[in-house]
Amino acid sequence: MQESIDMAELLGDLDFDPAALKAKYLEERDKRLRDDGNEQYVEVTAEFSHYVDDPYVEPGFSRAPLHDEVEVAIIGGGFGGLLMAARLREAGFDDIRMIEKAGDFGGTWYWNRYPGAMCDVESYCYLPLLEELDYMPKHKYSFAPEILQHSKRIARHYNLYENACLQTAITQLSWDAKDNRWIIETDRNDRMRARYVAMANGPLSRPKLPGIQGINDYKGHTFHTSRWDYNYTGGNSFGNLSGLKDKRVGIIGTGATAVQCIPHLGEWAKQLYVFQRTPSSIDERNNHDTDQAWAKSLEHGWQQKRMDNFNVLVSGGDQPEDLVADGWTDIMRNLTGIAAKLASRKLGRRLTKGERAELMELADYKKMNAVRARAQKIVNDEKTAELLQPWYRQFCKRPCFHDTYLPTFNRPNVTLVDTEGKGVTAITATSVIANGEEYPVDCIIFATGFEVGTGFSRRAGYDVEGKDGVMLSQKWSDGIQTLHGLHSHGFPNLLIMSNAQSAFTTNFPHAMDENARHMAYLLDTCRDRSIKQFEADLDAEQAWVQEIIGLSRFSEAFQSECTPGYYNNEGQPNPLSKQNASYGKGPIAFFDRMRAWREQGELAGLNYR
Ligand code: NDP
Repeated sequence: MQESIDMAELLGDLDFDPAALKAKYLEERDKRLRDDGNEQYVEVTAEFSHYVDDPYVEPGFSRAPLHDEVEVAIIGGGFGGLLMAARLREAGFDDIRMIEKAGDFGGTWYWNRYPGAMCDVESYCYLPLLEELDYMPKHKYSFAPEILQHSKRIARHYNLYENACLQTAITQLSWDAKDNRWIIETDRNDRMRARYVAMANGPLSRPKLPGIQGINDYKGHTFHTSRWDYNYTGGNSFGNLSGLKDKRVGIIGTGATAVQCIPHLGEWAKQLYVFQRTPSSIDERNNHDTDQAWAKSLEHGWQQKRMDNFNVLVSGGDQPEDLVADGWTDIMRNLTGIAAKLASRKLGRRLTKGERAELMELADYKKMNAVRARAQKIVNDEKTAELLQPWYRQFCKRPCFHDTYLPTFNRPNVTLVDTEGKGVTAITATSVIANGEEYPVDCIIFATGFEVGTGFSRRAGYDVEGKDGVMLSQKWSDGIQTLHGLHSHGFPNLLIMSNAQSAFTTNFPHAMDENARHMAYLLDTCRDRSIKQFEADLDAEQAWVQEIIGLSRFSEAFQSECTPGYYNNEGQPNPLSKQNASYGKGPIAFFDRMRAWREQGELAGLNYR
């Protein structure tokens, strides 16, 4: 018989009652569960469509419709599209057209210019193609303007402005079987043709608004964080919001975005009301300038090495050295497989499944206790400090790292309006209503996030008509169906850049780059072997979907114990999550597998001619 484990020996002092914490978590979750789940949000169409207008371009842009043909059309000018184009250029593809609805490249960094916007994944790993472009980020964590500039730098370096269609939204993609070409229709009345189309639409690109009663009655100023109105607030992404000096501002939402902009709002608004439904978990940031001596000491290949090191650590693996050494590697080290491995080593035997789960749960309580203690230490008012404490497991919501968010609640002009998990209930012509009280405000800022889990065509803004008139939204209505996440049967010469059924990692651009290299290999091979058309084989696709389902780490038990949010389909764990998941063995295994596929050179699972 195995000895039972002394968890305190593995985890240090366990000065808490796990059963009491679990009960508290479930109680807090129950306050937030609601029948309408994802339906609580309204789509930004019709009377709400102005919320997605582009505030960063001069109005009135027009150009003649295009009826020409390109070899590769890439939809999306964010990192996914840019990496795809970069790797294709390196493989010698000249005839590329980028199509992007925004006024410039940058994707999420084009849209999200709110004050304080920054990336909480280390810049030296996150910003793509640093060595290719000979660029070194200014800080360990980059601010949004630098990331936007870097996106434009990539576009210039790879000559992607040439032939690009900016301020152009796709309305429909259709496969023309007679000609083996994609027909691309847009809101500029284009009808272009392309041999290959790559879709890099981005996972969190469509803002959502809460379906709050009276939202349209409000007569004050209002916008979504991803369309920040600096004409109204003054200032820029670094702050200086002088337009708010005499304004009462209400911000709805306290997710990763709000955490970054609230310190600036608190600094400038006459009065700031933060309407909170669920507090975020806020750990320390510790940003700093790039050490120039360190930067100069780096040797060729350093970025890939650093990305790989980070990726192993955040995927539950072990490394002799933690090059990034930050909040991400810390929580992943303590709360994923690596913690279990270290414990096994210490014990000299493997942990049972039950022991492993218990270890993870206890480590999670411990971590979240530290997060809660941090709020208590930083925020002066006892009641406010208490309300800012998150009561859920670390990965129920996106962990946040920030050094000035919590201190903002010590300002006399900042009021936390906690809604006991119920959220804002109504909006009138002049005010926000929460907890039955009226808060008159001059401006409401929606920090309410982006659509997740809605249908493909609703989020993308277009649908794809494949062979025999099959629509992609229809094909995927009961779950995503792809081979490797990259191809879908019935949609020839179409490349999909996404983490569904493909690799997911904390450092998104890493997975995108791997996929971009893979796709460049594929198109290069087609060119070399005079292949005109390729398509996922139906059997291979079905086998891949089954493999994804079989390997899925989706745990209904974990998800349903979590407080609602977009990670768990607003408290209604979706059975399709298993199918729509990323590759369950993790990104390293996925990258290895794709490398082996390329080395084998047979384009296994694709039909081609
Ligand atoms: P989220 O979906 O994370 O947050 C939306 C917020 O709105 C939540 O706090 C939610 O509360 C709140 N909310 C929704 N409806 C109501 C209501 N009726 N009343 C009150 N509050 C309401 O969106 P974000 O834009 O903050 O973040 C989205 C994602 O973007 C992040 O998860 C992250 O992946 C990415 N991001 C990344 C950053 C980075 O540094 N790399 C920085 C910023 C964002 P509740 O929690 O109760 O649902």
